[in-house]
Amino acid sequence: MTEKFNAQVTIIGGGIGGMATALALQRRGFQVAVYERAKEIREVGAGVIITANARRALHDLGVDEKLEALSSTISIFHTCHFATGEVLRAVSSEDIRRKVGIASLGVYRADLHSVLMASVLANDPHCLHASSEFVGLEQDETGVTVKFASGASARSDVVVGADGNASAVRSFLFPGEAPKFAGQVAFRSLIPYALVPASVRERGSIMSAGPGRYLLCYPLRGGQIMNLIGLVQSGEWEEEGWTTPATNEEFAQAFAGYEPDLLELIHRIPQGELFKWGLRDREPLQNWTVGRVTTLGDAAHPMTPFLGQGACMAIEDGLILARAFAASSTVQEALGRYEAVRKPRGTLVQLASREEGQTLQDPSKKRRTAQDRGLMDYDPVSVPV
Ligand SMILES: Cc1cc2nc3c(=O)[nH]c(=O)nc-3n(C[C@H](O)[C@H](O)[C@H](O)COP(=O)(O)OP(=O)(O)OC[C@H]3O[C@@H](n4cnc5c(N)ncnc54)[C@H](O)[C@@H]3O)c2cc1C
Repeated sequence: MTEKFNAQVTIIGGGIGGMATALALQRRGFQVAVYERAKEIREVGAGVIITANARRALHDLGVDEKLEALSSTISIFHTCHFATGEVLRAVSSEDIRRKVGIASLGVYRADLHSVLMASVLANDPHCLHASSEFVGLEQDETGVTVKFASGASARSDVVVGADGNASAVRSFLFPGEAPKFAGQVAFRSLIPYALVPASVRERGSIMSAGPGRYLLCYPLRGGQIMNLIGLVQSGEWEEEGWTTPATNEEFAQAFAGYEPDLLELIHRIPQGELFKWGLRDREPLQNWTVGRVTTLGDAAHPMTPFLGQGACMAIEDGLILARAFAASSTVQEALGRYEAVRKPRGTLVQLASREEGQTLQDPSKKRRTAQDRGLMDYDPVSVPV
């Protein structure tokens, strides 16, 4: 057994990955400080599916039960014909439990974020710092100094860039790395369940892939809210980010030819609840780490959302990073173990998500979900580090 060493860890980005990492490190006795660029540390109100692989990590972090109580178990996932609504495939939560041990949850992102953040703050009420935008760093043999847009700086032993898809830490470590437009525009919205047409409500969770388009809806918060996402091929370079407003008409127009009940659902999205953005795809990084600085979550393996695994991967990363620290006696050893375990998995899921995006919108190809690909079998609690 290696003697435990002390390391102070700076985490850039207070999203799902940053919070999961902070909690996992704290629970193994490491001191963390999280720096978030937003004025207030919180998540946008949108949905995310959390599958067995990530739930194992959340259980280890002591928050899975709390999250389950706030969320919706995906009881039956229906794959439907885009134009007729005919159910082509139905996978029940029992099927998933039988195959991978734990059902998937439809989760309101803000709920996931707040259960993680509450536990982080309970461990250390002073470790979260808002209005702290990372702009650069300097490192030497003894530590890393991070610089913020405000002119402030912070020194620690290690830095973890958990600052998302357009990561400034990644750009700093690997200049020249650039996003590619994935040729897809995404729409996201939340709809009160009372407004959901009956046939959609009865099916509950629907995946509907038509030529060049993909629609997904599932309930959140014990069935109070329907989360609706639409992805459509496009030649337009839309803004990256989650906050550009869209209109019901442009969303419905993009899905012309879809079954009437799903189009009706689009028309019933309340004002102010519909947003669009351009998906960015990026090539896998050759390395995630430079010296005492590493990357995690979307910063390390930015992926398109077609397998619904980005947040799950960020949670897995956070737990494995903390386990690597607990198993090591130097920063270099810990970061080496982390990258060796996580890079193959992050890269695999990043490339599989890209492939699935191409398959989904071509009706002649057979879809392979995260479950079909065995991604939910992964156990971040017991995989050797
Ligand atoms: C349409 C869609 C549907 C999805 N559905 C699913 C799903 O069902 N299941 C799933 O697992 N995943 C899903 N994902 C993916 C998931 O949302 C992301 O992979 C996940 O949020 C990544 O977490 P993160 O913490 O790495 O990054 P983020 O959540 O992006 O967090 C990064 C944080 O860093 C902060 N930040 C950024 N720059 C700086 C800076 N310079 N300094 C300080 N702070 C900074 C940001 O403000 C933010 O708080 C979906 C994604 C999309 C687009």
